[in-house]
Amino acid sequence: MSHIILEARDIRYRYPRGPEAIHGISFHVRRGEKVALVGPNGAGKSTLLLMFNGMIRPDLGTILIDNEPIRYDRESLRTVRKRIGFVMQNPDRQIIAPTVYQDVAFGPTNLGLSEQEVKGAVEKSLRLVGLSGFERRPPHQLSGGEKKRVAIAGILAMDPDVLVFDEPTSGLDPSGSEDIMELLDELNQQGKTIIISTHDIELAYPWAERAILLLNGKILQEDVPDIAFGDQDLVRKARLSMPTLLELYLELERRGFHLPGRKPRTVLDMINIMDRAFRNKPCYTEPGTISLVDVDSPNGVDLSVWRSSNPGVPIGGMGTRAKQYAADRMIPLDFTYGVIDKCILKALLGEDSLIIITGSMVQRVHERVDEFCRENQVCIRVSNLSKDGNR
Ligand code: ADP
Repeated sequence: MSHIILEARDIRYRYPRGPEAIHGISFHVRRGEKVALVGPNGAGKSTLLLMFNGMIRPDLGTILIDNEPIRYDRESLRTVRKRIGFVMQNPDRQIIAPTVYQDVAFGPTNLGLSEQEVKGAVEKSLRLVGLSGFERRPPHQLSGGEKKRVAIAGILAMDPDVLVFDEPTSGLDPSGSEDIMELLDELNQQGKTIIISTHDIELAYPWAERAILLLNGKILQEDVPDIAFGDQDLVRKARLSMPTLLELYLELERRGFHLPGRKPRTVLDMINIMDRAFRNKPCYTEPGTISLVDVDSPNGVDLSVWRSSNPGVPIGGMGTRAKQYAADRMIPLDFTYGVIDKCILKALLGEDSLIIITGSMVQRVHERVDEFCRENQVCIRVSNLSKDGNR
């Protein structure tokens, strides 16, 4: 098991002239984890997150990074803020400079990097968030989703190990929210530990590896999401509602259906449970193939040729650069979120699909499909498209 990167030990905090916002909270986060702090407005999520990089100092208790208590002198806090990046809920409060470049450059410049290093860091972070070419744009002219990406790039430019997001999708439309959640996955795939706060339980449920349910400055429950959100009374007490798929599963169980397998976190999980319960196998036909085009080594694949010989085959985009690649070539994407599951669902119906993918996500597709195939004794082929467009 990977080591504990961040820990809160029995912390308490009262705002000056305000309420006691945190009442004795302890938990830890391991390197590479995806953790969601979930609770209603006023639960204490933002207050807790602000403690992780020293912006708020607990009255009692300790925050530890790599088992070392945070120290609050200026120099130590600089080091803490380089390791733990905090992305605020409202990008307008985080973005301060008149151009995207200057804004993203602010952090690495403050860390004392040379002009050349700052340039490299800005370019790399803008590429990661899909905003290459936006350097000279004034941030206030950007859309909500783009501003959010600028704020994220500004934090990425300092290359932190842990990224903390306060309500990462607030104010974004559903498609913008999905893009941001996928970006978080992509960053996690590249090794970053990700902590988010949200009151959107539907969003946290399929995304998080671990969920912490927070109410009135206390932890109500902390576990894998299907357990953390699986207690109707507790979820209601936290003024939230249970994720729909979990509620459906539990209702079916209560009615005496014997449902095989793990509790569903995605539509694919639910369909798979139903197929196994009522049809006794996940797939009745020869499964379709999932093809991949890695945009970081496209191997000369000409997608317009591929599309004309494979009309109607749905195309998914995974990863920021992949989506940009598709947009640049005017390739409409059928799936932009939950792409692997949607392609597995197609494959189970005997249909092929294609994923245009950022290199760092390729392994994830193989892992998810292999895991599904192993658990369900089906064989879904995942293949890289070769130069001549054949598999
Ligand atoms: P959440 O992020 O879960 O909505 P917060 O951490 O913002 O919750 O708030 C926790 C509690 O602390 C609430 O009761 C809120 O009113 C209070 N609080 C938050 N910020 C301040 C502040 N700057 N001054 C005084 N009280 C505050």
